[in-house]
Amino acid sequence: MDAAISFKQAQFITSAFELHQVPTDEGAEIAFAGRSNAGKSSAINCLTRQKNLCKTSKTPGRTQLINFFSLGSEQYRLVDLPGYGFAKVSKKMRQHWDEVLTAYKLQRQCLKALVVVVDIRRGVGDLDLALIDLVGEELPIHVLLAKSDKLSRNAAAKVAGSTKRQFAHLDVSVSSLSILNKTGLQDLETRCLELLNH
Ligand code: GDP
Repeated sequence: MDAAISFKQAQFITSAFELHQVPTDEGAEIAFAGRSNAGKSSAINCLTRQKNLCKTSKTPGRTQLINFFSLGSEQYRLVDLPGYGFAKVSKKMRQHWDEVLTAYKLQRQCLKALVVVVDIRRGVGDLDLALIDLVGEELPIHVLLAKSDKLSRNAAAKVAGSTKRQFAHLDVSVSSLSILNKTGLQDLETRCLELLNH
């Protein structure tokens, strides 16, 4: 089945602001979530070998829509969820997103897994934990420790080890990634393929 999946051929399909705007619930998709500025857009661009698939922005919280990308075939999709933890989003907007995103994560049959992108220097924070608590019993989760070049190899391995131990009771896998030297890219790709075929 993986023959049809191509990260390099990732293409924007559509954006959704409301749940009824999302593509038909069929095939398989994995969604990327993370605190604003964690490195989510950079990770998606790195995985798809495209510079601008997701606009990486120095202004946190700019992504306000759920963005869907096909992976060679529209039956396989990568989903970019809006970054959380950005104070400037209005309360009303945040409430709207909470409702839409919670429903998306819990009701979507074709959603195979969630990739939670975390800045390796901060580790898993309260907002990440809330998300993992929400879906961890329902879905496999991959914690991606981004910006691993910001720590020594030893320190990065320690964070990966402690993160694995923290979630040993759930279906949680962990890997790290540096977009600068592409360390961890192959691991991320392999895991995403496994999850899409889950
Ligand atoms: P997002 O808000 O989660 O989508 O975060 P971005 O992908 O926009 O990244 C936030 C900042 O972290 C940007 O300045 C990126 O250049 C930087 N960044 C992302 N990944 C890496 C990495 O692997 N290494 C380093 N050194 N910086 C990174």
